[in-house]
Amino acid sequence: MNANLFALLASRFPQNPDADALLIPDGPTLSYGWLDAQTARYAGLLKKIGVEPGARVCVQIEKSPQNLVLYLACLRAGAVYLPLNTAYTPSEVAYFLGDATPRLLVCDPGKLEALRPIAQEAGVVHVLTLGSDGTGDLSEQANVCAPDPWIYDAKPDDLAAILYTSGTTGRSKGAMLSHANLASNALALHQIWGWRPGDVLIHALPIFHVHGLFVAVHCALLNGSAMWFLPKFDAQTVLGLMDRATVIMGVPTFYTRLLALKNLNRESTAAMRLFISGSAPLLAETSDAFAERTGRRILERYGMTEAGMIASNPLDGDRIPATVGYPLPDVAARITDDRGAPLKAGEIGVLEIKGPNVFKGYWKMPEKTAAEFRPDGFFITGDMATIADDGRISIVGRAKDLIISGGFNVYPKEVEQAIDAIPGVIESAVIGLAHPDFGEAVAAVIVADGSAPLDEPSVLAALKDHLARFKQPKAVFFVEELPRNAMGKVQKGQLRQCYEATFQ
Ligand code: ATP
Ligand code: MG
Repeated sequence: MNANLFALLASRFPQNPDADALLIPDGPTLSYGWLDAQTARYAGLLKKIGVEPGARVCVQIEKSPQNLVLYLACLRAGAVYLPLNTAYTPSEVAYFLGDATPRLLVCDPGKLEALRPIAQEAGVVHVLTLGSDGTGDLSEQANVCAPDPWIYDAKPDDLAAILYTSGTTGRSKGAMLSHANLASNALALHQIWGWRPGDVLIHALPIFHVHGLFVAVHCALLNGSAMWFLPKFDAQTVLGLMDRATVIMGVPTFYTRLLALKNLNRESTAAMRLFISGSAPLLAETSDAFAERTGRRILERYGMTEAGMIASNPLDGDRIPATVGYPLPDVAARITDDRGAPLKAGEIGVLEIKGPNVFKGYWKMPEKTAAEFRPDGFFITGDMATIADDGRISIVGRAKDLIISGGFNVYPKEVEQAIDAIPGVIESAVIGLAHPDFGEAVAAVIVADGSAPLDEPSVLAALKDHLARFKQPKAVFFVEELPRNAMGKVQKGQLRQCYEATFQ
């Protein structure tokens, strides 16, 4: 059997080629027949210009239907799709090209001039353009190719994509994902989230990352569903579509922005059956506020580039705020101490996982890969978590963010929760800073809304009775906003750097 993920997806496309695939507000509706024919044309072009199975296709372009076509065409042709964040500068792109040595680079027409010499330097054979409106050399050349119905006969372990991690804790690493990795995860999510005939997805995420490219797209295509394919997230536009959709997947910021709209209520969301959140922790406060306004509890799930989705709150049954639910079917999870010894239910340690979703390793980093796996095949996620008696996982934070102050472990999330509960605080980030006596000292960076007078003494006074002394911040800073990357994740490394001299 062909293990190519595209073969699986195509086997679920609707019988009727006129069925809607991509819905574009103020634009043409694109059918499954169109999607199939276009991917066959683009795959034909890839073959023609010598993009062999296994060759990398590096892509830094704006989201568009043609961008999705290019991804699917790479699967079809057995090429390895390698999308890059559109925010990366040419010098950052140079690193990825040198690292991944793609045969083809597809870039925005506006970046061609800057990227062509960089691509040449890295030995990239072809550079083609694709703009946000779908025009460019790539689509021009593909549109005159005859659709090639061939689908590369992939083995389960053949690489389908290399996705670079978000770079929250350091330099991005290229995670090698196979057709079987992606297919198993897609099938599991399609099943546990109860996809059904007639579902329509609101797709407002970027497609250079696991969440938008794999989780959202694969679920919709496996279901033969239509998706509202939006270039970016705009809260008012998205809310306006909720009478013609049933499922949305978003990062927590989507939900806080929706909550800022007065007309987010039971009526405006009545047609929706599922709100999913992931990529970063969803605050219990956001989850509660959303439930109060809409009568619906957001379903939070957890995953990472290296493994796709790992755990999810249940479709039926309680969705508990600040937990990420149960491991997916076929995924084993355990909590260990820093030497890898298993811990008991409820104890905080590092989350390790094993399953068909777990990647094949970091591209060109065999030592790093080996260091992240236990001898029995479990992958060390680098996230600190607990697993309760009933199997529910709660993410406590990243192992790299753990603060050890005076020999005691401080989990930033616990301190952040206490600070966020102080009236006038919008959000906070708690970090460890080098300290001559304590090794590390707890420091808090706070965003306030101005509704209450807040300064360091008043924050410390408010925390005094809630946190053990060693957990209390030794410095408090106020900022307009926290530094975040494209996925909305707080860049704690940047904060640590900014305040590193505080106690020196
Ligand atoms: P890098 O590995 O380069 O430092 P990154 O870990 O942010 O970057 P991703 O793979 O995009 O890169 O993100 C996965 C991480 O996001 C997880 O390891 C976890 O820390 C966090 N995450 C994802 N979903 C959730 C969630 N629901 N709750 C808490 N954290 C989450
Ligand atoms: Mg990571």
